[in-house]
Amino acid sequence: MTDCVIVGGGLVGLTTAYVLNQRGLDITVIEQRTLGGSASWAAGGILSPMYPWRYPDEVVQLASSGAHQYPALSEELASATGIDPEWFPCGLLTLNIPETMSLVGWADRTGTALEVCSKEQVNKQIPGISFDGTAAWMKQVATIRTPRLIKALHSYLRQRGVALVESHKVTGLVRDGNRVTGVDLEGDKRLGERVVIASGAWSGMPIAGVPDVPPIYPIRGQIIHLYASEDAISTMILKDNKYLIPRKNGSILVGSTTENVGFEEIITPEARKELHDFARNLFPELVGRRVINHWCGLRPGSDDSIPYICAHPRLKNLYFNTGHFRNGIVMAPAAAELLAKIMLGDKPAQAAAFGFHRPETNRN
Ligand SMILES: Cc1cc2nc3c(=O)[nH]c(=O)nc-3n(C[C@H](O)[C@H](O)[C@H](O)COP(=O)(O)OP(=O)(O)OC[C@H]3O[C@@H](n4cnc5c(N)ncnc54)[C@H](O)[C@@H]3O)c2cc1C
Repeated sequence: MTDCVIVGGGLVGLTTAYVLNQRGLDITVIEQRTLGGSASWAAGGILSPMYPWRYPDEVVQLASSGAHQYPALSEELASATGIDPEWFPCGLLTLNIPETMSLVGWADRTGTALEVCSKEQVNKQIPGISFDGTAAWMKQVATIRTPRLIKALHSYLRQRGVALVESHKVTGLVRDGNRVTGVDLEGDKRLGERVVIASGAWSGMPIAGVPDVPPIYPIRGQIIHLYASEDAISTMILKDNKYLIPRKNGSILVGSTTENVGFEEIITPEARKELHDFARNLFPELVGRRVINHWCGLRPGSDDSIPYICAHPRLKNLYFNTGHFRNGIVMAPAAAELLAKIMLGDKPAQAAAFGFHRPETNRN
């Protein structure tokens, strides 16, 4: 019997394994496909919520704490595995902000470095942009290449003796009364002192033996990868819920759609055109640039966009770390720390906001 079985090998499951392993627990991660091959692989990798001032403070704090952990985490993973996740502090410029006044107040209250910029400042900072409005500049925001991050974590966890099981689906839980004692893999059982459900967009699906699951549903997101010259853009740019992310090699990610289409994990020509048009309208010089790749992923969405990082309300030894919606990459390290504290008996004050039954907060 292992100390903890984690259901789902996306970034949230893998960072949970990382933290619990560092606390001395023996961990098994069970993934139905390939590790990190779902939403975590598909993500753009912006290490901040988009429009953070629209989220409840607890979400912003968890994201900020996650973002602060990334430089050291990337360095540790790169030096242990030789795989660099390419943490890249290129800053985030948010265009078309209607709420300038509340934004300045929010930045002061939360201690966030944020500068409101005029259209002249934007045009000077970003040559070639076609924009005529007010913007917010957050120079501290970084990005990370999530496929590399997952590869590095995978290799690191293997080195540390974490059991990583791919191509196995958890279909039910093993129970002894109201105590969870393991998982069922279509007949094959894996026993564990504790079980963590970190199955992303699938976390709201019924699992045999679990009386309540959080109300999570898939929200599809599509991204295109554009070929561009090395100095095309030097910072992340967000406008009307779409964004451009520069890669270190000069290419650009253009994201993303937000589609409530169930578990349809397919890319569409309409989304490709919508994203390509967005990039070309903002940067006329991108007209004619080739699309290198186009992909999609299913975000774990919920009505309030606040993750579930908590114990099950009725079953002992069952926990959730799921429902991070658009912020699972930035939140992952801090969400894993928070869950580890909850599992190991601390009672962190911030946990209430992420419980199974949560207080009413400002909705996103
Ligand atoms: C297009 C797009 C762009 C995004 N951009 C950003 C961004 O810039 N910044 C940011 O912070 N977030 C971003 N996100 C959101 C982020 O990707 C997610 O919040 C995060 O990846 C969720 O991680 P996860 O591990 O919970 O889910 P996943 O990565 O989906 O992993 C869950 C895993 O559980 C497995 N699983 C499910 N059920 C079972 C089962 N029964 N048995 C075994 N395994 C199971 C699945 O196969 C899957 O691999 C983006 C998402 C998308 C789609």
